Amino acid sequence: MNRATDYLKIREILQRRRRDILHANLGAHRELTALKNSDRDPEYEENAQAELADYTLSSLMEAQRREIMLIDAALRRMDTGVFGECVDCGVDIPMDRLEALPFAIRCEEDATRHELETRGGHYATPSL
Ligand SMILES: [Zn+2]
Repeated sequence: MNRATDYLKIREILQRRRRDILHANLGAHRELTALKNSDRDPEYEENAQAELADYTLSSLMEAQRREIMLIDAALRRMDTGVFGECVDCGVDIPMDRLEALPFAIRCEEDATRHELETRGGHYATPSL
């Protein structure tokens, strides 16, 4: 097995994951729409419950959107031939790390350093 073959395998995993998320997202979206359209008794407790369900589904979709972005970025990195290279030092990220974390853009050492540097600060979108 060489890295190119491994990358193809990871690409398939990413594309399958992307499809799964889109399907799940579509399901959640339908559920949300059904919830909003349902004619419910305007009692306080029911409204509160509907709002809670609404919030959960919305945040779920937000997390899914974020993952799609990470998948697309990883696929783009594959297309441009830089996938699997650490963005900081340029070494090939070990395959076992890529298999566990297909979105990884840094080697373990640089990822740890990056985490330490950004810890405590406000949440920032990972630079892709
Ligand atoms: Zn590195």
